[in-house]
Amino acid sequence: MQINFNHPFWELVRVKEVDDCWEKPTNVDKSSGYARYRPHWKGKSYVASRFAAWLAGLVDSPDAPKDRKGTGFVLHKCDNRICCNPYHFIIGTYGQNLADCWNKERREIGDKDEQGKFFDLGRRHREYLLK
Ligand SMILES: [Zn+2]
Repeated sequence: MQINFNHPFWELVRVKEVDDCWEKPTNVDKSSGYARYRPHWKGKSYVASRFAAWLAGLVDSPDAPKDRKGTGFVLHKCDNRICCNPYHFIIGTYGQNLADCWNKERREIGDKDEQGKFFDLGRRHREYLLK
């Protein structure tokens, strides 16, 4: 992966090792939980993780795809919505993103299997996506 680190965006991100989450703790949207990034004062803002994916060449544009039927949505493998580490992303469809959210919510609500362990449908889903 070729990440463009010359962009001032990275000054706002805690860049660490590849396995670690690279968090952007500022400008976190209260309703969605995603960090946002505003390149210019008064300009439009972007979802920070999507902006990071764009700087890594994973998506063609820092704007979310207009067509929800298409692919090109940035999904977090790490469940951390303020993470901007492109190595933690999968590019998928809007439907996959929704399924991912749904699975995570199901786990957070607390569905448990017979052994009393929480289901991790989200992780299985992500492993499937990686194949
Ligand atoms: Zn992460």
